[in-house]
Parts: sequence; structure tokens; C-alpha cells
Amino acid sequence: MIFYKTAEEIELIRESCLLNCKALEHVASVIGPGVKGSKIDKEAEALLRDHGAVPGFKGYRGFPATLCISLNEQVVHGIPSDYEFKDGDIVSVDCGTFINGFFGDAAYTFALGDVNEDVMELLRVTKTSLYKGIDAAVRGNRLGDVSHAIQRYCEQEHKYGVVRELVGHGIGRNLHEAPEVPNYGRRGRGIKLKEGLVIAIEPMVNLGTKAVRQLDDGWTIITKDKKVSAHYEHTVAVKAGKADILSSHVGVEKAISNNPNVKEVALKSEVVI
Ligand code: MG
Ligand code: MG
Repeated sequence: MIFYKTAEEIELIRESCLLNCKALEHVASVIGPGVKGSKIDKEAEALLRDHGAVPGFKGYRGFPATLCISLNEQVVHGIPSDYEFKDGDIVSVDCGTFINGFFGDAAYTFALGDVNEDVMELLRVTKTSLYKGIDAAVRGNRLGDVSHAIQRYCEQEHKYGVVRELVGHGIGRNLHEAPEVPNYGRRGRGIKLKEGLVIAIEPMVNLGTKAVRQLDDGWTIITKDKKVSAHYEHTVAVKAGKADILSSHVGVEKAISNNPNVKEVALKSEVVI
């Protein structure tokens, strides 16, 4: 069952999303080679709690942390650890926040130091595909139009692997609500998009094969061929004409431009929103 949101509820979700993105912005300002995931996880949790919020992921089905930190061939759901990031790593950071009764959800993939151009291109394409999906998330379209826009751009135009096993989702009073929002699908299929629908759109795109597997920790998803994977996510409200992006990567990108340890992805969010 889909819970459609009122305008007031959407504003509460926006508040949750913007605080959530403050945590990602903090990550963007401190991440770099030599930094431990466990450290930025603690800092993100402190930032959320200082603002009266609760981490959205911690304790969710037993997940032990505030952030999902997924390195290189890890796709999503990586558990923060004492590993020190190193030059050339790409680090996907996913954060969830719960405040005022509603969840916010967003993710960003950071390129640390000297990252190969083929990997930077994967990041640019994955991030662009997120906005292509968002562009299709308008009243009167169907959910398959969102899914298809992402898949077509990543697979047909760029020959990357779009992960099938993990998908975006409705969001609101629950972190994961109906409908599922796959990053692959057929145009014109699926539910009709109506105002009040709030979804997290989150392409997970691999440099090589789309096939993934789960590590023995019960959480971390990695690519089967061990090639790198990227992940960008926004929480979005369906509107007539143009979707309303409730989260924001703009602060994250500003922090990256001031952090010499992180390489900027060519596409800037403020250009496309
Ligand atoms: Mg997320
Ligand atoms: Mg999500």
C-alpha cells in the first residue's frame, strides 16, 4: 500500500532530508586518504543527534551504524570500519535521518585523491542518471518511465551494469515504503505517478557486470567481478511538470570544492536542478 503525503508532510520530509544532507556535507568536508569510516560515522551520528534527530539506519534490521560506507567494489550497505581510506578509493556514503516523524535518505559517492578517469566517468554517468530518473518523476508519468530513464542512460548509452537486486523505494513515516523504485524497467509500465508520492531514487551502477553478491557480514553488497560501483540518491516528491528534490547535494559539492582530498565529479547538481 502506498502512503501519499500531504503538502505539510512533504515539508516535514524535506526538513529531515536537509538535515540528513548536512551530515553528508560534513562527511564531504572531512573525508580523504588516512581517514577512517568509523570516525566519520561517529561524527555523522553526533551531528544528527545534536539537531534532535535519530540516525535512520542504525538499528534498522540490526544495521550497526549511522552511515553505510561502501568502498570501491562494494555497491551499498558497507559497514563503517577502522580501515583508513587511501588515495584512489571511491567511497559511497549513504545516510538516513529520522526527525519529526519522517525519514530522509540520500547518498553520494566520493572520489579520493588520484582516481582513474574511467572511474570518474562512471561517477559522472551514475550521478547524471539520478537526475534523468528525477526528470521522469512527474505527475502523469509511470514509475517505469523513471526506471527506464536510468537504465537506458547507464546500460544502452554507457555500457555499465545496473544492479537489479537493490532498488529505490517510497519513503515517509517508514524508511522503506511501497512502491519499489527499480533502476531498470520499461517505459509506460508500473503505477501512475501522482502528487503526494515521495520516493528515494538511487541508481547503483557498476563499471563491469551488473551481478552482485553479499559478503558474509550479512550486509555488504559487492560486484561479482570486483570492479567498482557508484551510488547517488535523492529523496524526491512527484509534482506536475518538475519533481521537487527534497534532499540536496549542493552543500556536499561545495564542501568537496573546498576539500583538496576529494576529486569533483564533472556534473554539478545546481546546474541540473
Ligand atoms: Mg540511502
Ligand atoms: Mg534509499
